[in-house]
Amino acid sequence: MKFEAIKITLRTWKLLFKRTPIYMVALTLGTLFTSLLPYVTIYFSARLLNAIVIFDEDLIKRELVLFIALEALFRLLSFIFKRIQDFYDETMYHHDMKLYADKMLSLDYEDVDDQKVHALYSDVMENQRLGGYGIITAYINFENLLKASFDVLIGLFLSISLFTSNVSDPAYSFLDAPIIAFLVVLAMLSLSFLVSFFVSKIEDEWARYAKEGTGTLGNRYFSFFSKYVSDPAKAPDIRMYEQGSILSKIFDDDRNIFGSNSLIAKKSRGILGLYRVLSILASSLLSALIYFFVLLKAYAGAFQIGSLTQYVASITKIFLGLAKMFEVLASIKTNAAFLKIVYQYLDIPSKKYRGSLTTEKRLDNDYEIEFRNVSFKYPDSDRYVLKNISFKFKVGKKLAIVGKNGSGKTTFIKLLCRLYDPSKGEILLNGIDIKKYRYDEYLAIFSLVFQDFKLFSFKLKDNVAANTMIDEEKVRMSIIKAGLDPKKFKDEIDTYLYKDMSDDGVLISGGEAQKIAIARALYKDAPFIILDEPTAALDPISEAEIYERLNELVEDKTAIYISHRLSSCKFCDEIIVFDDGMIKEFGTHHDLLKRDGLYKEMWAAQAAYYH
Ligand code: ADP
Repeated sequence: MKFEAIKITLRTWKLLFKRTPIYMVALTLGTLFTSLLPYVTIYFSARLLNAIVIFDEDLIKRELVLFIALEALFRLLSFIFKRIQDFYDETMYHHDMKLYADKMLSLDYEDVDDQKVHALYSDVMENQRLGGYGIITAYINFENLLKASFDVLIGLFLSISLFTSNVSDPAYSFLDAPIIAFLVVLAMLSLSFLVSFFVSKIEDEWARYAKEGTGTLGNRYFSFFSKYVSDPAKAPDIRMYEQGSILSKIFDDDRNIFGSNSLIAKKSRGILGLYRVLSILASSLLSALIYFFVLLKAYAGAFQIGSLTQYVASITKIFLGLAKMFEVLASIKTNAAFLKIVYQYLDIPSKKYRGSLTTEKRLDNDYEIEFRNVSFKYPDSDRYVLKNISFKFKVGKKLAIVGKNGSGKTTFIKLLCRLYDPSKGEILLNGIDIKKYRYDEYLAIFSLVFQDFKLFSFKLKDNVAANTMIDEEKVRMSIIKAGLDPKKFKDEIDTYLYKDMSDDGVLISGGEAQKIAIARALYKDAPFIILDEPTAALDPISEAEIYERLNELVEDKTAIYISHRLSSCKFCDEIIVFDDGMIKEFGTHHDLLKRDGLYKEMWAAQAAYYH
């Protein structure tokens, strides 16, 4: 067993103790008392039988009272701890999901945007879903190891006298020889090892299945299937193109890990079944050997008849306990590979330099932003998508960023909001590099409506306020300003969006979603408001309307509009024309039209459509 596997498992147990200490202590004590319980019966029934054999009435009474008192006490204690444990068991999954979700929320944006991080995250999820691999298995291993250790320790304590008590019949005195005890123990050890060997073989098979990707992929098929068939958005396609038959086929064939034709189902009928039979065979042989040895010693007069049950039961427990320990060790080894993936994800460092300067809350909103020789390429890419951008911009003005799709407009905004840091050059706020500001405070000066904005399946007011503290009047005002009437919604601002969280939820159109996203930006009331082209949801006329409306709404604030439709932005004080990651032109609509440049060319081309 590799040291690393133990180290990573210990780290996980420590994490569990830190996360839910009451639970882990209850689990430990509960397991102790549950393990002790059968031994109370084993121990006292032996003593009672021995007392009955010699007809000692006082002794019988004393043993009986002690028996009942201890049995009742241990039963009560194990029940209490088990209840605490049950309660936490229910929340275990929730704790894990929260751990992974919190990590995702705390990641730097560029990591969240990174395909590798998502692959890691979905591996963690899928391993957990497939066989509880990862933290849940580490927890189960802890419980099983405790159980097995208690069984072995208590069993040893109760069976030592089996080997130390000498037989009275000289014909059987060879049973007292240490070599016999040694051989018997060795045989028992080998058999219990065999039991665990076969069980761990079964486990290995499952784990390999998960690790090699077949399982993961099969699991993905399974999740995909259940999500796809129940998604209302997919329903028209499923019906139009009769996708049902393909989907059913995938569900039934060997690609679905839980299907009756999956590899694992086939293996269960074959090799895995064989391993199970062999493990049962080995444990039956083990029991037979224990009975034989104990009976032989009793027959030769080594102890009274009552102790017979005690020895058989406690030795059986020891060896089954040992078998369990081997199994746990094997499982710790297999699970280590999965825990490694869990920690690869949980240990992703936060690379972004978190500054300490506070962003002054200026009442006069007098901010100035400057891009100084900024170039940028996305991580894992060699291509610069912004090239040597230099540009100064004062708050209070309306700025438009226009350019073809893919010219770098959104990337420019992502840099401005520090979702990424420039690869070269710097961005300054009032003359200071934005990296030096506290990240959360810096973000607070921007209200953003991204192209692919997301709304929650929560209440309308939760979406607009995006906070646990909600100013309802302000929510209503923001919604009205954004061009929607809150009264139109069934439960006004308490209406749930979408159907995920409430059957009463409303399905909203793309245009409405857009307006709610704008209301959210208005509610935030930040000095900068940025609107990235809402092309997906809106036709050109509505887009132009929203931009012009917003222009009136934002009043003295700074607004930055991004679009590839020039007509939406012609009212702006300043227009930057992006082309291939560079600022091609800069000026007002009228200035730019006077020049024979890209703007004029694009304007002429688009005007043909819209005017
Ligand atoms: P625009 O907003 O003008 O349509 P973008 O800023 O979205 O343009 O994209 C500029 C270029 O950067 C495009 O070529 C796009 O393919 C690339 N790009 C955008 N996002 C990523 C990313 N996360 N990783 C790698 N390349 C990206």
